[in-house]
Amino acid sequence: MREPRFDILFEPVRIGPVTTRNRFFQVPHCNGMGHVHPTAHAVMRGVKAEGGWAVVCTEEVEIHHSTDVAPYIEGRVWDDADVPMHARLVEMVHEHGALAGIELVHSGMVAPNLYVRRPPLGPANLPVSGTHPVQARRMDAGDIADLRRWHRQAVARSLGAGYDLVYVYAAHGLSTLQHFLSRRYNDRDDAYGGSLENRARLLREILEDTLDEVDGRAAVACRICVDELIGDDGVGRSEIEQVLSLVGELPDLWDFMVGEWDFDSITSRFADEGAQEQHVRGLKQLTSKPVVGVGRFTSPDTMVRMVRDGVLDLIGAARPSIADPFLPRKIEEGRFEDIRECIGCNICVTGDPLMTPIRCTQNPSMGEEWRRGWHPERMRPRIADATVLVVGAGPAGLEAAMSLGRRGYDVVLTEATDVLGGRVSREARLPGLAAWIRVVDYRAGQLAKLPNVEVARGSRLDAAEVLGYDFDHVAIATGSRWRADGVGRWHTHPLSLDGVELLTPDDLLTGMRPAGDRVVLYDDDHYYMGGVLAELLASEGREVTIVTPEPRVSEWTVNTMEQHRIQRKLLELGVTAVASHALMSAEGGAVRVACAFTGRERELACDTLVLVTARLPEDVLAGELRDHPSVSVIGDAWSPGTIAAAVWDGHRYAEELGEPPTANDEPPFRREVVALAPREARRPASPAALRS
Ligand code: ADP
Ligand code: SF4
Repeated sequence: MREPRFDILFEPVRIGPVTTRNRFFQVPHCNGMGHVHPTAHAVMRGVKAEGGWAVVCTEEVEIHHSTDVAPYIEGRVWDDADVPMHARLVEMVHEHGALAGIELVHSGMVAPNLYVRRPPLGPANLPVSGTHPVQARRMDAGDIADLRRWHRQAVARSLGAGYDLVYVYAAHGLSTLQHFLSRRYNDRDDAYGGSLENRARLLREILEDTLDEVDGRAAVACRICVDELIGDDGVGRSEIEQVLSLVGELPDLWDFMVGEWDFDSITSRFADEGAQEQHVRGLKQLTSKPVVGVGRFTSPDTMVRMVRDGVLDLIGAARPSIADPFLPRKIEEGRFEDIRECIGCNICVTGDPLMTPIRCTQNPSMGEEWRRGWHPERMRPRIADATVLVVGAGPAGLEAAMSLGRRGYDVVLTEATDVLGGRVSREARLPGLAAWIRVVDYRAGQLAKLPNVEVARGSRLDAAEVLGYDFDHVAIATGSRWRADGVGRWHTHPLSLDGVELLTPDDLLTGMRPAGDRVVLYDDDHYYMGGVLAELLASEGREVTIVTPEPRVSEWTVNTMEQHRIQRKLLELGVTAVASHALMSAEGGAVRVACAFTGRERELACDTLVLVTARLPEDVLAGELRDHPSVSVIGDAWSPGTIAAAVWDGHRYAEELGEPPTANDEPPFRREVVALAPREARRPASPAALRS
């Protein structure tokens, strides 16, 4: 049962005309599903409502076709045709007693309108963000009147879909309302520029329009960036205080955030829980309206402190609700050890830039709720009794054993070493990655509660032993190892590497250190490993040069919104970055690298070469057992990938065990296929005819 000190988290909060059932508020978050995968999206939100969140919101929803953020996949209420998919989402959320919120957005100069092909709108004639060869057009009085009308229409459609809470959005640098507010973008000399009162005029008008349009039928929230973190060029503390003095009493709820998305969802590598508190503290006192804010909150004690200290009224969460959609329920029931805490890796974020359905390292069911019927808390009971041996307790083996145990199978999990967690137990010791150990802690804790799962540490099995035990099913989860021959993306055949000490990430992770001082780290992997090992070695006093064929270090981490922080950190530590260069050879205390564009070679002095290129499956055992139909290979042992992929594959194995085998000729999941338009014989007679 719930501990009394957490009672405060379960108090209702009045937000204008609606009242929440508790203080847990799933703030809007992107998910790579939006208007393209609407049923999958709606079911995912429904699961959060089931997990006890009082308010469940959409991602940003484009109010009009003049704000098209394609190729990113967000929500849309461009016209009435978009309403049914929202109605479905609302229905899913209401089914479980939560309030449904919609975040309406006009992205203006952030939306290049690539699909719609009309010039974006903004306060000034400025290029759109990113590198698209597109400029926003300075809005005139007519455009402003249009925007106000479009926003009203979107509000009306939101009410039609049944939403309980409608957002006015001026945050993350992603909204026309914020662009008008910010001196960074607003250079106008009309009634919408200059003084803060003028720059806040559009925000005020849209808030007033929205309140008028909802007319008490829904709550109006305002999400606002309280500090753009760009000094005097943008909104900071004194200006946000003035904004609150101007419009602080207009909306029914304030949703405060800081910086852009990369700060709002900062990874655990660069900030701990509650990173926004220092910026948000004190603002609640400037309005009588309730306040929600985020901070990757997973600790119930921190949540209580936020409320008791008067920082927040509602505990906002995106990532914690993704990692554990049942977080509120678990706190309510006092099941703290069952909480699947977010590790702050931002794999969930990658669905947005990569335009694919959201996934999560900790919660393999995320994004699979509708398409595969997976649920974060419930699994189908086993169809028949069976015994299962899982070999290897990395993320794949741990997840497989836990999930098989939940299905009721008799499971033995064997691990060669004395430590559970495989690569995660080692990688979590790298700088900034400590929170990743939660992948192991959660699963180890759950396994300890399953009487039908036995865990054997210090038990390295060979093929004869595996067969000798006579299990009905065997899952090989023996992981992978880093290559030491230079093979990766750039070179697909081994390099000649002599005359320098060679180390792989596995060597460094198991405690080895370079013999000499001059270290060249060759990163042809491009995710976190190269950058974090460079950071480790530099902070231990080595002279580190990181060489990568990509233009930036840890290039793929743009997708987790960390690349700029990683590069800054390495440069501050004195690491030399040699970008757009590939390793060619090593000989006699030096390596040769070649420009990725010209092929021109140069030499770098080097005592130790660290190769972060690619991995090979640890598949000896798998190879020996290949012919046994009851043996499966999962996780990195099947195909090396991310920790998220290993967890997911362990889960998939457990979900599918005992099910009739599929032919593998068709997708093993549901898809929402586009409804084909009727065939037409003629060109439309006029633009108006397009809509008839
Ligand atoms: P994954 O990411 O696929 O889960 P990891 O490399 O993280 O893979 O974990 C693999 C685990 O398997 C390691 O902890 C390793 O010690 C263990 N292991 C490897 N071979 C054997 C074996 N033959 N018997 C038992 N455990 C093994
Ligand atoms: Fe947290 Fe990582 Fe899951 Fe995102 S993917 S919710 S950051 S554990």
